[in-house]
Amino acid sequence: MLASAALSILALTLGCGGYEPPATRYHCETVLGVIGSNHSVDCGIVSANAALAWSLMHPLPDFDAARIRAITIRDEMIFLVDGARAMGALHNETDIEVDRTMFSLDHELGHCWLYWHTGDADSNHLRWQSSGQGGTPDCLDCAGRDLAYILGHHDPSLTP
Ligand SMILES: [Zn+2]
Repeated sequence: MLASAALSILALTLGCGGYEPPATRYHCETVLGVIGSNHSVDCGIVSANAALAWSLMHPLPDFDAARIRAITIRDEMIFLVDGARAMGALHNETDIEVDRTMFSLDHELGHCWLYWHTGDADSNHLRWQSSGQGGTPDCLDCAGRDLAYILGHHDPSLTP
């Protein structure tokens, strides 16, 4: 996960079954596919965030946004994934959930990419620094693609 040491921002649920992307009321077309939410969002900002993340990730070997089945923006900043607090999650290597502000989008794409590229999504962030995705375990989002995305992204929420 990102940033706060007290949170496990990463949540990975691997393997078959269990998770199905939730039905969503709002949908934005982006370079990463349709991104859904259940609160109203500015699709221009959602698309710009997705384009920023894509620009950071697509040069990497084996990065293929077409392999992503669903990206869902949660209503919350922090939510529970298998009982653990998280700001982002990757399920079944195909389904991404991000926090309300989309802060965690590039981080979760990093897990996707490492899975595609190496067969291991790196749930413990052992390759976060060496792969250029982020920083050291005490501050995963202090460097690399995570930080570049965080500095450039915006909160797309239209409702408080
Ligand atoms: Zn993570």
